[in-house]
Amino acid sequence: MKLIPLPAFADNYIWMLHDGHKAMVVDPGDAQPVLDALQREGLLLESILVTHHHADHTGGVAELRNATGAQVYGPAGEEMPEPLQRLSGGQTCNAMGLSFQVMDVPGHTAGHIAYYCEAMDGAPLLFCGDTLFSGGCGRLFEGTPAQMLASLDSLAALPNDTRVCCTHEYTLSNLKFACAVEPANAELQQYLAHCQQLRAAGLPTLPSNMALERQINPFLRSRLPTVIASAAEHDAEMTKQVGAFATLRQWKNDYR
Ligand code: ZN
Ligand code: FE
Repeated sequence: MKLIPLPAFADNYIWMLHDGHKAMVVDPGDAQPVLDALQREGLLLESILVTHHHADHTGGVAELRNATGAQVYGPAGEEMPEPLQRLSGGQTCNAMGLSFQVMDVPGHTAGHIAYYCEAMDGAPLLFCGDTLFSGGCGRLFEGTPAQMLASLDSLAALPNDTRVCCTHEYTLSNLKFACAVEPANAELQQYLAHCQQLRAAGLPTLPSNMALERQINPFLRSRLPTVIASAAEHDAEMTKQVGAFATLRQWKNDYR
């Protein structure tokens, strides 16, 4: 089974999984990169998995379904291009002969879901949409900081070797912010240098893995004394009122 990030728009990835015959894609905001890949590799599109309703994740769904007859799966609680099979946390969906566990991860949007496949050759796979990014997390458009923190906690509990397939190449800007939060984190400095090399060579920084994210992602580390101290140094009053996680998220929104 091959896992390929198809670049789309300025910084999206449409994740494709294929076995040389059949393929599935996750969050196709644009049909064209998928149609090109299907033709190039001689693949039939079997399934389309969608994490949330934003156009950069759903824009290509209808065209791909019409062109290929692929089965579409998406969140139960969001506006979606019909018809599709709607899913919520605790359910499973079968695609490519694999079983994907559906997780509710509200925060970026109210009904955002993630797909986790444990029994995968190589290592477990997580398609987390715009909830978890490498070194960062999604903006809180529809959810509260507490919801997002709980969603990230549930993702961070997945096995160390879980491959984290995020939908945006935001890693370098996330890591610059992470360095402002944790200037003394040596793993973070190392990973930033590694990602700078990858981007300079035109390569994706993704997938990441969960062990690494727990070491370098400030949004998974908001209960550590050093991170709390850093949030308080940025805004003591806010950290006291709403906690380190909400302060980090606001700090990141304003960070340039
Ligand atoms: Zn989004
Ligand atoms: Fe997005």
